[in-house]
Amino acid sequence: MRILLVEDNPADAELIRELLLEYPQHSFSVRHAGSLASALAALGDEGADLILLDLGLPDSQGTETVRAVRAAAQDAPIVVLTGLDDEDVGISMLQEGAQDYLAKGWMSGAVLVRSIRYAEERKRIEAELVRKNAELKAANEALAARKEELREREERLRRAQEIAHLGSWELADGRLSWSDEVYRIYGVRPQEFAATYGAYLESVHPEDRVRADAAYGDSVREGRAGYETEYRIVRRSDGAVRHVYERCTNLRDGTGRILRSEGIVHDITERKEHEDALLGMTRKLQRSNEDLERFAYVVSHDLQEPLRTVSSFAQLLERRYGEQLGPEAEEFIGFMTDGTARMSALITDLLEYSRISSRAQPFEAVDLGGAVETALENLAVRMEECGGRILCDPMPTVHADRMQMVRLAQNLLSNAIKFCPAGRAPIVKIRATRAGGDWLIRFEDNGIGIDAECCDQIFEVFQRLHDRSEYPGTGIGLAICRRIVERHGGRIWVEPAAGAGSAFCFTLPLQDRPTPSSSPD
Ligand code: ADP
Repeated sequence: MRILLVEDNPADAELIRELLLEYPQHSFSVRHAGSLASALAALGDEGADLILLDLGLPDSQGTETVRAVRAAAQDAPIVVLTGLDDEDVGISMLQEGAQDYLAKGWMSGAVLVRSIRYAEERKRIEAELVRKNAELKAANEALAARKEELREREERLRRAQEIAHLGSWELADGRLSWSDEVYRIYGVRPQEFAATYGAYLESVHPEDRVRADAAYGDSVREGRAGYETEYRIVRRSDGAVRHVYERCTNLRDGTGRILRSEGIVHDITERKEHEDALLGMTRKLQRSNEDLERFAYVVSHDLQEPLRTVSSFAQLLERRYGEQLGPEAEEFIGFMTDGTARMSALITDLLEYSRISSRAQPFEAVDLGGAVETALENLAVRMEECGGRILCDPMPTVHADRMQMVRLAQNLLSNAIKFCPAGRAPIVKIRATRAGGDWLIRFEDNGIGIDAECCDQIFEVFQRLHDRSEYPGTGIGLAICRRIVERHGGRIWVEPAAGAGSAFCFTLPLQDRPTPSSSPD
């Protein structure tokens, strides 16, 4: 062990050196410095494993000496050499960083060696303590960081729950714990709420309490994994009735015994209110639709009667008095008969339009090819007259109202025949292709075509692009087509066909897809 002996008294220094040399087994090598300056120089040169330090040096005294040596040799233990009655000084030097002190007068070899060994051990323990302290500090800092992270996460969760009006709860061993948002939803403060299942049930609306209780109780008794339910609560803070949605998961051990139940509570009051308002409006709309349909039926039925009277008497007039009345009267009677026939057609078409939903049939599997054939049979005479041809590709089976599919095909085919220039035989190509989740059906004719800017308006009631003298009609046929297609969850439109003519296209959902309205709308 390399010992630096800092002592200005040569006799003391020699004595100490000799005492140390009595212990060859410790292999002490002793260097001597007589002043602070030479001690610091020796430490800078070679360092030391231990320093025996006299405090009163020619160039430094007391505390200053310890501090200076301490700073120059951080790792070496220091044993301070004091005068006989300087116990207090020795203790205060320990506070300055020395490991032990020895009164010079009492010094024996054994005492000196014991003090050196003690100082050495104490220095090692101090170093160990410093290291452990540093480790502890680092662990504490990591813990504080984790705590902060956890706090931030909890805060984020709390904010998310608040924004979504969604709280979470846990029930274990009869103790219920709620997140902040559940407290907010129920309008209670944590200190007011006895966190038990019974206290929770008290917040549920009296009319829904049995149901809410059964939802949980049944799921536990019947060994279910959880449940979903909706019920009303009475908010404690202001007595407001709120609607909540609750979803619970029961966690069980291997024997099926419940360990705990966890759940979420979602305040759905606003959504419920919107749904109720929407339901109210839908019911009102349904009622007004039914009223309108009844009105249309009564009006058309009652209007037909006087119309038939006018038409019959006009014909009688012509037959009995036609010759007496002359050609002009005959022409007028012709206008009358014509007018009543047109009005009768209008009323019939309007009635049909109003019945698309009121007289609708339930949806079934309908072969569209068969529907096209039936429509063609209904138009057989006109087809023969004009020499028209239908080229129909294989058609799919769809989920639809059979009669309405026939009506749809018949209206489109009838228009294709009607809106064909004189002298040209109408040709209609019918094709079906898949388009996403739909069938796309296309009726392409070689008729007069339609201006691009009129493509939308012709599907409105009474919208016609031609004069009746040119092409007869009521302007309701395509409006009926659109109502039928929309009732089946599809779309209808027209686009120019390649060459001349128009292509009427509509979509229908694939058969295995549910349709939006399979009941009257
Ligand atoms: P209507 O045939 O009784 O006039 P629609 O509602 O069936 O009534 O048709 C509306 C209008 O759309 C027709 O008056 C006509 O101008 C135009 N239209 C319908 N089908 C065709 C077609 N295939 N080619 C050209 N124009 C058509």
